Order: sequence, then C-alpha cells, then structure tokens
Amino acid sequence: RRKWKKVANVVRELEEGCDTRVGRLRQVVDAMAVEMHAGLASEGGSKLKMLLTFVDNLPNGTERGTYYALHLGGTNFRVLRVQLSGQPTSDLEHEVERQPIPYNVMTSTSEDLFDFIASSLKDFIAKEGEGSNISQDRRELGFTFSFPVKQMSVSSGILIKWTKGFSIVDMVGRDVAACLQEALTRNGLDVRVAALVNDTVGTLAVGHYHDPDTVAAIIIGTGTNACYLERVDAIIKCQGLLMTSGRMVVNMEWGNFWSSHLPRTSYDIDLDAESPNPNDQGFEKMISGMYLGDLVRRVILRMSLESDMFGPISPKLSVPFILRTPLMAAMHEDNSPDLREVARILTDTFEIPEVPLKARKIVVKVCDVVTRRAGRLAAAGIVGILKKIGRDGSGGITGGRSRSDTKMKRTVVAIEGGLYSKYTLFREYLREALDEILGEDIAKHVVLKVTEDGSGIGAAFLAASYSS
Ligand code: ADP
Repeated sequence: RRKWKKVANVVRELEEGCDTRVGRLRQVVDAMAVEMHAGLASEGGSKLKMLLTFVDNLPNGTERGTYYALHLGGTNFRVLRVQLSGQPTSDLEHEVERQPIPYNVMTSTSEDLFDFIASSLKDFIAKEGEGSNISQDRRELGFTFSFPVKQMSVSSGILIKWTKGFSIVDMVGRDVAACLQEALTRNGLDVRVAALVNDTVGTLAVGHYHDPDTVAAIIIGTGTNACYLERVDAIIKCQGLLMTSGRMVVNMEWGNFWSSHLPRTSYDIDLDAESPNPNDQGFEKMISGMYLGDLVRRVILRMSLESDMFGPISPKLSVPFILRTPLMAAMHEDNSPDLREVARILTDTFEIPEVPLKARKIVVKVCDVVTRRAGRLAAAGIVGILKKIGRDGSGGITGGRSRSDTKMKRTVVAIEGGLYSKYTLFREYLREALDEILGEDIAKHVVLKVTEDGSGIGAAFLAASYSS
C-alpha cells in the first residue's frame, strides 16, 4: 500500500545517505591524515585543533605513591584515588566514586562548578577516615577535563570552548587548573593540581601502562575524541620545543573533524542547525552517544509525517533528545520475535500506543543504519591516525615502501566510553570496518583494547609522573 511505500522510500534514502562503502571510508581515512598534517602545521590550519598536551612521557609502572584524580567529562563526575606500588600490575588498586552532574551546575558559573567539584573531593577524602594508612602532607591530583583546552604546560591550560551541553560562559578563556586550584584552597583542601589532562590522554596513559605498544586512545561516549603519540619534529607549529623523549601526546579534538567525504543526510543537517553549536563538532554529531538517538528520532518523525504507520503524530516525536542512545541501542538489540522491547520503548518514549510489527522492524532497521555508519566512520578515523604515524601498513604518508616489504608492528589503540563498551553492535561494526579498510594481514596486528576508568586513573598516573 501507499503508506508503506513512502516509509520504504524514507528508509532507502537514509541508507543511501549513510553510505559507508569501503572506498568512501578510505577517502575519510585520507582526509583525516591530511587534516592532521594541516592542524600540526599551523595554528588554525585545520578544523582539527591538534592540541599540544606537553605530555612527553607515558607511565611505565615505576610510579609510586597515592594519587588522586577528578574527572569532569560528559554525564558523570568521578573522583578517584590510585595506589601505585612502583611495580606494574594488571590489577591496579583504586577507589572510584561517580555522581551525575546536576544540570544547573553544567550551565551555572565557574565558581559553582568548581565548588561542586571541590566539595566532592573533600567528602571523598573525609571518608578515608582516621585509621587509613594514607598519611600525606600534601596530596597531588590529576584533573581530567574532557573539553578542548589550549595547554601552556602539563598543569595549566585555557578552555577554548564547551561541548556536550556544558555552557558556563565565564569559564571560556580562563585557566581551568587555576580555577580548580583556587576552589580547592577556598574549600580548605591542601591538594595540588599536578596535571591537567584531556580524557583521551588519561586513557592513553593507562593503556600504555598496561601495554607499551599503545600508540593512540579514542573516547566514544557522550562525545568522541582521540589522541596519539606524535614525533615532536612533526609538530611544525611549535618548532624549537624541547621534549625529553622527542615525542608528545597530541589531543586531536577529532569531534570537530570535517570532510566533504563524510556521508551526510538531511537529518544530520537539521540536527546540526538546531544544535547550540552549529557547524561545530561535525564528526562527533555523526558518531557519538549524545546524538545517535536523536538522529533516529528524526527519521521516525519523518516517517510518521509521511504515513500513518505510527498512528496520529505524537508531539513527543518533536522533542529533541527525548530518545536517549541507550534506549535506541536496546531497540536495536531486541531479539524477541515480536520486538516487544521496541514497542515498549516507542510507547514509553513517544507515547505511540500501538506500533505494528512491520513498523517495529523498520525502526530496528533505522537504528542499524545510523549505528553502522557511526561505527564505520569511527573506524576510518582510527585508520587515519594509524596512517599518519605509519602504522597502517603502507609505510606512512610520506614513506615510499610498498605494503609487502613493510613489517607491521603490533599496534594497540586504547578505547573507552559507554557507546563503545556497552553497545555491542556498534563495537562490531567498528571492528568490521577496520578489518575491511586495512585488510586482514595488516588488521590482525591492530588491537583495540577497552580500558575502564582509564581517563581518570591515567590522570592520577600523570600527576605522579609530573608531581613536584
Ligand atoms: P561520558 O558521559 O563521560 O562520555 P561514558 O563514557 O560512560 O561517559 O559514556 C556515556 C554515554 O555512552 C552515554 O551518554 C550514552 O550515549 C552512551 N551509552 C551508555 N550506555 C549505553 C548503552 N547501553 N548503549 C548505547 N550507548 C550507551
């Protein structure tokens, strides 16, 4: 019948718009490597900021002592304490406390934000209690701050802009570590901010601690970002910089990557236009957990406008971000024969009372298309990094060696974030695309390793490495 035909057209158009055949992915890989070069060549040379971190040494296990970390990222705020014994161990002793960030704190003043953070740390330390064996005069802390920061040193840096729904206007342009340090002092805490760390850098640090072949780290949670270890002489924009190891971790801020090769649909264009940061974070808006559910919502809205398969148009379908990505994943992964979960979630979220089985199947298909594209684009981004550092089996972007005579080294990429760790189909699509792009012979040397709380634990490590 006509209504099904219209809906089928919407799905077909979506699939065409989300095309990620391997040829197109290779174009994205090349664009990523080219943009990385441009971002390293000059300030503002690319949408990729390629931020310096001043981290030139990654932990190797000889660190010792008790260190703290605070993690301010997307949805949760974390406080951690890590006990480092001076010996590498696969079982790191650490204590974590998580709490959701109240919405008013995300959009208030910097004083409110940092007082919230400082008082959480104060409570955490107070719980160590009298009998604890932690007897430090002065505590050292790593601050994981997952927003773009222009660093001046390992322990200082200026906020460039907010992402992921944060908006505290008076913070932009200020030194994040100094603001935290002031709040700690104001709250009577004798704690020194020894390292200001992007979450990707924390993940890389802890990945490297467990496995020295780790060369890059990716976060795919509410937002997405990546960092990797670069040769200092390749960082043209800061010539003359002396780093002891000759290498430095570069925070790519890859969420802002853009290329005309990215497969873009009308839903992406609308989502971007209606977002608080249009023309920004284009890659992130196709890949990360904050947005995938909303892309699916937009497609369902369009289908219900074009047909009556979802009954009368529910006003809830027009509410931005009402469909959270974990719910979208639950629909996608519904294995029941009558797709009961899908029906339940559509009813709970959008107040659509009766959804016929045929429509439920289409919703699952939409989730699949959106997630498959996200996973495959993330894979292309990762291969872009490998290409830039000559670990894609082609001998590097300027190298002339052929595939066959290059001995591919074991290469580990640390990955963290709820979208990757909790969404099995996303993870599978990513791996599948990585294998397709690189080919089996090369891909078998590339290990994707999930770290947990790495971004926080890694910051504690870096506080240890860079403590005074
Ligand atoms: P952060 O908010 O700091 O990025 P996480 O790394 O834990 O925190 O990522 C949380 C994000 O991961 C959520 O915003 C959500 O988009 C996504 N996510 C969490 N659980 C799931 C799930 N079961 N399926 C799909 N996505 C999920």
